[in-house]
Amino acid sequence: MAQASGVKVQDVKDITRIERIGAHSHIRGLGLDDALEARLVSQGMVGQANARKAAGVILQMIRDGKIAGRAVLIAGQPGTGKTAIAMGMAQALGADTPFTTIAASEIFSLEMNKTEALTQAFRRSIGVRIKEETEIIEGEVVEIEIDRPAAGAAATAGKTGKLTLKTTEMETVYDLGQKMIDSLTKEKVQSGDVITIDKATGRISVLGRSFARSRDYDAMGASTKFVQCPEGELQKRKEVVHVVSLHEVDVINSRTQGFLALFSGDTGEIKSEVREQIDQKVAEWREEGKAEIVPGVLFIDEVHMLDIECFSFLNRALESDLAPVLVVATNRGITRIRGTNYKSPHGIPIDLLDRLLIISTTPYSDKEVKQILRIRCEEEDVEMTDDALALLTKVGMETSLRYAIHMIIASALVCAKRKGTQVDVEDIKRVYTLFVDVKRSTQFLQEYQSEFMF
Ligand code: ATP
Repeated sequence: MAQASGVKVQDVKDITRIERIGAHSHIRGLGLDDALEARLVSQGMVGQANARKAAGVILQMIRDGKIAGRAVLIAGQPGTGKTAIAMGMAQALGADTPFTTIAASEIFSLEMNKTEALTQAFRRSIGVRIKEETEIIEGEVVEIEIDRPAAGAAATAGKTGKLTLKTTEMETVYDLGQKMIDSLTKEKVQSGDVITIDKATGRISVLGRSFARSRDYDAMGASTKFVQCPEGELQKRKEVVHVVSLHEVDVINSRTQGFLALFSGDTGEIKSEVREQIDQKVAEWREEGKAEIVPGVLFIDEVHMLDIECFSFLNRALESDLAPVLVVATNRGITRIRGTNYKSPHGIPIDLLDRLLIISTTPYSDKEVKQILRIRCEEEDVEMTDDALALLTKVGMETSLRYAIHMIIASALVCAKRKGTQVDVEDIKRVYTLFVDVKRSTQFLQEYQSEFMF
């Protein structure tokens, strides 16, 4: 595995490239103003004002920590932006809040039982913010800001402002800062000076451009009365914060290959004892102030594909105080709950449905479809004439928004083939004849049904 690591990096790059032009790459947030009102067109989002505003209210609840144990259902017809809104929520939450997205059908794999797969998805969506004290690595360059100059006759211009220092010993920023200020009061320390601290003896040597000699100080406290910098200022720099997901902690602690399993995706099933131990450890860290829980968001698309056992798992999992915010989406109406003979709205059991805050999306007007297509053209770097965009909008209204979005890149290729620089009406027409939409495909099947395999 070790020698394959170079290859892995390449894989990661490829994924990023695909994501950039992925179906929702133009979505940068929910496009709301400070009063949570939806701007007409903003952050790649168009229309669907009510649903976006509702999603914004949910975000506010997440930020205020008031949504534990609850879940959101985004319901609406295909192509009405349900996934786009979930992506917008993820973007608005920022990189530090874990956001996991899965399609319900992914839960059913041969490698893992379905409740294990759901548990992993849940734990991927819960972040642990771990605080650590920094240690300066030998030779590292640190910057320390001095707010006020040292008092008294020793204060000179060279002793204020930002100093860049190099350490040659393992030392915390605070200790270094403390000693540096001590030394400031006795000697001119300038930007670029190298400070050496001998931890065993507590001696500090200052070697700088301005003096060729090295000087030893009795650094441990003798001149603390001269310290002018508030302690808090320096202590802030002692903390480094990492956010990892609970799932990552689980994997690192349960696999012999440790974190490498995270890259290979081969995490397998994790024993419940391991999870219990980790939950206990995290609870201890929280009590000691070393860690905080960051509840993230788990988005399950096509939620009607889950079966009754998964739904009862969700009901139970939402009760846990380590639950993320669950956002599910479906385009189904009244349909059978998988694993039963009962029908229910959206194929979701009534008891779970009762917990959900429901956001509904509505079909788009032609103006909105045009605007979304224009944004997608920009995203895909495709130049298109107004007439072509108008025709594509008509196609989008009559077939589906997704089909029209797919036509953008295909028509750009057809345009390039004829050495054109702007996609025009005939390129759209050509692509329309090359690729059929669902309606025409169905029509074709109905006409030639007898010639297909049964
Ligand atoms: P399905 O029910 O089929 O899963 P969906 O409701 O999740 O569909 P999306 O996949 O979100 O629909 O939308 C289809 C495409 O249109 C995506 O590329 C999406 O980014 C884009 N889109 C949808 N709504 C908007 C919107 N309001 N603003 C900008 N882009 C949108």
